[in-house]
Amino acid sequence: MAETIKMTRPLISAEAISKSYFKGQHMIPVLQGAGLKANRGEFISVIGQSGSGKSTLLHVMGLLDSPDIGEVILDGNRIDNLNQSARDQLRNHVFGFIFQFYHLLPELSLLENVMTPLMIRHSIFSYWAKRKEIRDAAMDIINQVGLGHRIKHRPSELSGGEMQRGAIARALVGKPEILLADEPTGNLDAVTGGGIMELLNSLNENQQLTIVMVTHDEAIAAQAHRTVRLAEGRIQLLAREEAA
Ligand code: ADP
Ligand code: MG
Repeated sequence: MAETIKMTRPLISAEAISKSYFKGQHMIPVLQGAGLKANRGEFISVIGQSGSGKSTLLHVMGLLDSPDIGEVILDGNRIDNLNQSARDQLRNHVFGFIFQFYHLLPELSLLENVMTPLMIRHSIFSYWAKRKEIRDAAMDIINQVGLGHRIKHRPSELSGGEMQRGAIARALVGKPEILLADEPTGNLDAVTGGGIMELLNSLNENQQLTIVMVTHDEAIAAQAHRTVRLAEGRIQLLAREEAA
């Protein structure tokens, strides 16, 4: 099994990533040569203490942030050094993001929130031409996450678990290849969080969605295929886990 994995080209890899922040005069090194590879269809969790750099690593992989040193490689091609518009294109088409606090737009309904990523891909004219197609795609993914009965609700009228399902629908409506999840259950009780993990596992299994999830919670991390630990700025040795 180890040999098969070695021969496969990773779908996404972060290679020897270093990144520091400045607080006044002080340089705070966060990532110091962190490396992470995910094969197509893999579900990886990255565990680490608060402040260990998990979000920073995820942001660098998804082109929300740039490394000081190191490379991000997508299917064999370096992507972190592309120009801004190419990076924007990749961010909008290849990556889907979900966050601890959902980041749904409060003034929009669930359906409108989920339609937004597809709407911004179009000019106003092509949007009107494609309006039905966009709505159907949004309805389809909303049904898949189990929220078909909530489309007119605003985020404030949804529970935490429903908001995260909505955020997952919004992240996936554009059919990204890679879902980057930053503490997706961090604001949810254990049962609701378990439901979100079941949904992520079923999306991974049924659609071969590649998922990189960061969390500080060992029990949540163990529900992915494979867990790595981020500590002292680097990815530490692997602990393999079978999916539950
Ligand atoms: P984690 O997600 O594991 O909690 P983060 O990646 O958010 O860790 O942060 C790692 C470290 O970098 C923390 O010490 C944090 O305070 C610092 N940090 C993160 N983002 C910034 C920023 N934009 N400016 C300054 N420091 C930051
Ligand atoms: Mg974080």
